Amino acid sequence: MENRWVATVHLDTLKVEYDPTFKFKCVENCGLCCSNLDIPLRDEDVETIEDLGYNAWEFVDYEKAFYRGDRFLGYALKKRPLDDSCIFLDPETKRCRIYDHRPLACRLYPFIFIKNGNLMEVYVKEDTFCPGVGHPDGEPVTEEFLMREYGDLLRKYHRDIVNQGR
Ligand code: SF4
Repeated sequence: MENRWVATVHLDTLKVEYDPTFKFKCVENCGLCCSNLDIPLRDEDVETIEDLGYNAWEFVDYEKAFYRGDRFLGYALKKRPLDDSCIFLDPETKRCRIYDHRPLACRLYPFIFIKNGNLMEVYVKEDTFCPGVGHPDGEPVTEEFLMREYGDLLRKYHRDIVNQGR
């Protein structure tokens, strides 16, 4: 499966290089990623959702686990048996009920972040089902876009690098 490069963040300065020919716009009420993806939950994701008042057994699928090599990454977010969509997707409005607190894997989609030393490279899958990829009304993955959508993550990496240099 081919990945397309769309941007690189220099984590020491937070400066961004990007492909101006690539555009993205999340299509409102689409919800395809909420049905088509299996979402791995980190411990932090589980804690965040529990803090909203849910019990882990309500939203964690303990029968589906993710591994990288032999390293356990986490269990999956539960899906609704009827239509295989995420249990937090409102079937009427196609909106996420926990959008502001959604797991990291949901936030990252359709992008793939690969850290390479002081660089964070950002890719998208060429064959993604997401209609937002290449959307004519979309925006390129600029510094403004990345800081708006992922500023908390990128600033954390930036702080770690600055602190290592001290
Ligand atoms: S599949 Fe793409 S366009 Fe549709 S909701 Fe997910 S990110 Fe947005």
